[in-house]
Amino acid sequence: MEKEKIIVNFHFREKLNKVPGGKHHNYCYQCSACVASCPAARFAKKFNPRVILLKALLGMEEDLTGKDSVIWLCTNCYSCYERCPQDVRPIEVIIALKNICVEKGTAPDNLTKLSENIGKTGVSVAVTSAVNRIRQELGLPELKKIPVDELKEII
Ligand code: SF4
Ligand code: SF4
Repeated sequence: MEKEKIIVNFHFREKLNKVPGGKHHNYCYQCSACVASCPAARFAKKFNPRVILLKALLGMEEDLTGKDSVIWLCTNCYSCYERCPQDVRPIEVIIALKNICVEKGTAPDNLTKLSENIGKTGVSVAVTSAVNRIRQELGLPELKKIPVDELKEII
């Protein structure tokens, strides 16, 4: 039986190398230490940081940055960052992949909406008069006004 050929997409790997946090994917030696401490891997069978790194090494662009990519199940807990003996910083590679998704327009719609809200108002969810009223009832201080212009400049 003829074996299936795997062609590494170096073009995508080069692209990933240029995104902050992405270039450490080159150092992964597939030991799985990151998987052992990953809460997302424990609760979602289809999520596995080692497999994400393997796909990055193979340059599997569509799998990693297409619509419905599994990378969005990562909880950003940084356990893998602490565990990895190779200093791959899997979470940072995943964030780099997420940034590529945003550029391509394949990030989940709800997250795109949240980040657009932050860009416009400084908060992910609008602070309505009802929110302020409930805060007052709970004895919480008024929310500080966000310097939106400064924020826009930073973004
Ligand atoms: S990212 Fe690090 S811990 Fe995970 S498989 Fe690769 S070398 Fe091992
Ligand atoms: S940051 Fe993401 S990939 Fe890393 S251990 Fe946490 S959930 Fe898993």
